Order: sequence, then structure tokens, then C-alpha cells
Amino acid sequence: MNWLEERKELIRVVREMNALGINQGTSGNASIRVGEGYLITPSGMAYADLAPEDIVEMSFSGETLGKRKPSSEWRFHHDLLAARPDFGAVLHTHGKAVMTIACQRMDLPPFHYMIAVAGGNTIRCADYATFGTQALSDNALKAMQGRKACLLANHGLLAGEATLARALSLAVEVETLCETYWRVLQTGDPILLTDAEMDEVRAQFEKGYGMPQGGT
Ligand code: 13P
Ligand code: ZN
Repeated sequence: MNWLEERKELIRVVREMNALGINQGTSGNASIRVGEGYLITPSGMAYADLAPEDIVEMSFSGETLGKRKPSSEWRFHHDLLAARPDFGAVLHTHGKAVMTIACQRMDLPPFHYMIAVAGGNTIRCADYATFGTQALSDNALKAMQGRKACLLANHGLLAGEATLARALSLAVEVETLCETYWRVLQTGDPILLTDAEMDEVRAQFEKGYGMPQGGT
């Protein structure tokens, strides 16, 4: 079996996303780039039951290797890893706060400086499409332009990063931002940071300040 360490890492991270409370049950999925393709979690299996051989290997030319069916969302994992050389891993979650904002089909505006962790001055919400469809992948890719995370309307969160550990950190951060935005909306009108203020935040990040921890 190829890529044993990467298979174990996938299992570790999907279990951790449930333990952290940013996902539950068999919702969500994850992938890691390997060789000329990627490894992806199987569809509809409890994470506690996963063994390395349950992870599915897929190539960018469409071959599937393994005894399980790949995640129903393999299309957005495939399309993101193919289109974004900066991504070594993609993570999808159904967190309660993320779902709350995604069900309102709201973009997250620059109400807090940490919005910049996703790479821009907003975190977009992708247009709605049925789970597991090419239309959802197309909408997600559009919302991810210039970003490392987006919401999926009436669904959840998508995060891409250099490593799966970093994608998990980003997912935790966006879940927290969504929960905070929900509270802010209840307590008054959000006071948004300006483009200039957000540019300064990104410049600080590029210097290495305030980057979320998450390994290399
Ligand atoms: P899978 O179990 O097929 O990965 O589906 C979970 C999910 O979140 C669909 O959007
Ligand atoms: Zn989903």
C-alpha cells in the first residue's frame, strides 16, 4: 500500500475535526496531494472506523485505486488540487457556526482582522449547488479565487492549505470567525476594517506575524 504516512495523517485529521467540534458524524471530507494525484477519505464511513486501506487513491486523469468509494465531494478536491499548486491538502467541514452563516448565504466582511488568514479582505460564500456535483465544484473554485477558504451556501466550509494540519487550523479559525460574526450581528452593526487597514494586516502576516500554527 502506497503513502501509508499520508493515509494515517488523513485519518488523524478527520478524527480531530470531529473531536474539536467543527464537524460531526460522517459529514466533511479531506484530501492530501501525493505523486500525480491525491488521497481522499471514503464516502459515508465513520471516522473512528477508518483504517489506512479505507483511504482512496485517485489520479488527476481519473483512475481510482482502493476498496472504498471516494468521498462524494471528490470533484472539488480534484479541481482545487489541480488548479491550485499552493494547495497540498483540502478539508471540508460542516461546523455549526460556518453552517449558520452559509445558510444566510453571507460573505464574511472584514469585521475582524483575522479574516485576512484566508488570503483576502472577505471570505466568500459560494453559490448554492447540490452536494457532490460538478456545479458545486465550479462554484467553490470561483469563491476560492485568491483565497484559501470559502463557505458553501446552505452547506459548510472549504479550506485549502500547503498541509492538512494547516488546513485544519484554518478551518478552526473560520469556524471561530463565523461564530463571532453571528454574535456581532446580534449586538449591533459591525464596524468594518478599511481596505487599507486590511492591506496592513496582510503585510504583517507576510512578515510572519499572527500566522496560525499548524506545522509545515
Ligand atoms: P462524503 O461522506 O461522501 O465525503 O460526504 C460528506 C459531505 O460532507 C458531503 O458534502
Ligand atoms: Zn459536505
